[in-house]
Amino acid sequence: MTSQVVIMVKYGEIALKGLNRKQFEEQLMHNLAWQMRDIPDTRIFRRYGRLCIETVETQKALKAAARTFGVVGVSLAKKVPAQLEAIYRVGIEVMNEVLAGAEGGTGSGGHIAAQGNKEAKISFKVETVRADKNFPVPSPEVSRLLGAKLLASFPTLVVDVHQPDILLEVEIREDGAYLYHGTLAGPGGLPVGTGGRALLLLSGGIDSPVAGWLVMRRGVKPSVVHFHTEPFTSERARRKVIDLSGILAAYGGELTVYMVRFTEVMGVLSREVPDKMLITIMRRMMLRVAERLAQSAGIPALVTGESIGQVASQTLESMAAINAVTHMPVLRPLVTADKTNIMTLARAIGTYDISIEPYEDCCTIYVPRHPQTKPHLPKIEAAEAGLDIEKLVAMALERMEELTVKPYATAALYEGGPLPGL
Ligand code: ATP
Ligand code: MG
Repeated sequence: MTSQVVIMVKYGEIALKGLNRKQFEEQLMHNLAWQMRDIPDTRIFRRYGRLCIETVETQKALKAAARTFGVVGVSLAKKVPAQLEAIYRVGIEVMNEVLAGAEGGTGSGGHIAAQGNKEAKISFKVETVRADKNFPVPSPEVSRLLGAKLLASFPTLVVDVHQPDILLEVEIREDGAYLYHGTLAGPGGLPVGTGGRALLLLSGGIDSPVAGWLVMRRGVKPSVVHFHTEPFTSERARRKVIDLSGILAAYGGELTVYMVRFTEVMGVLSREVPDKMLITIMRRMMLRVAERLAQSAGIPALVTGESIGQVASQTLESMAAINAVTHMPVLRPLVTADKTNIMTLARAIGTYDISIEPYEDCCTIYVPRHPQTKPHLPKIEAAEAGLDIEKLVAMALERMEELTVKPYATAALYEGGPLPGL
């Protein structure tokens, strides 16, 4: 009897209870199916607090599952009938693959094999969970019996129950025994669709796409707003924003992108307000327009890529002066993150190479040499007193374009593995 390959999906958020938990699981199944939309003959089903995926294209499916928000880890398991003889046979098979450094598993087999030294002992441990109490052999006994078979079959192996090089896991369920080694980490978080919606201010820089990805990881479905100053900013700058949105869409489904023409507004501002206040007032205008847009789309929160102290407009004083124009929550997932970690994450999720393309963003064009780092709110308000704010907001929204950006299929997407903490 042959074994069957099953992808086991582990998901977290153990604090979720009741209704939330059900919604989480249903959305996760839906999102997994969506991530696997191009993989034929894939079956996803729920089983004992796990989701399982059966497919012929295991490698593709593993990667797709490992990039789905809500997934903590994926393991490639072999499933056999819950009988000791079958467990022994497949246990040896799995160990053989691990020791051979088999490509494509979820464990560290390659690493172990790469150590090379044939004489060196490799330690292992078998860990068994007996979820089906009808199975007659207790779990420590299954571990011991399989361990003995493995020792007899592989002379290089020794047992180490504390810090084994190889952990072979056995789960005995009502429908069979699952054996696997290693877990490929997923992004964790919550499935997109469980957290409502937010409007992401996406610039084309390194930070805001990462900020968008991070709120998506909390289950939020973003829409995007970008402010451009064409013809002073180029077609390529616009393309960048669309490409970045396409990457985000690959993680959470197609996105609405609002392209707001800010050229005329910036023209007025650069004539009417003091140079050193231009950045603060421009940002306040952006936030007002974004708030208006969000309100009309029924979106309750905004997201930016701001991080304390990174640039002049991101001191706490600046953030306070900018934030003062809106009552809407402004989420700043990167607020305390270091730039190096943000860059590492940007590379891991596939946005970095697009973000560093050298096409000017509207803010770069208008940044004066000495912007204020500590704007004083009353002075800013005084400088804005002569402006017809409503008219400026209307001007920006008048020539807004609304696009739908579909998911990009690119090799640069995250496909599981450790991510930097922020
Ligand atoms: P980023 O790398 O995201 O561009 P940054 O470090 O360059 O961030 P700023 O230029 O000060 O920082 O922008 C702060 C935030 O304001 C950005 O993260 C983004 O959310 C928003 N933002 C800036 N410019 C634009 C724009 N042209 N369109 C939409 N949002 C913008
Ligand atoms: Mg920027």
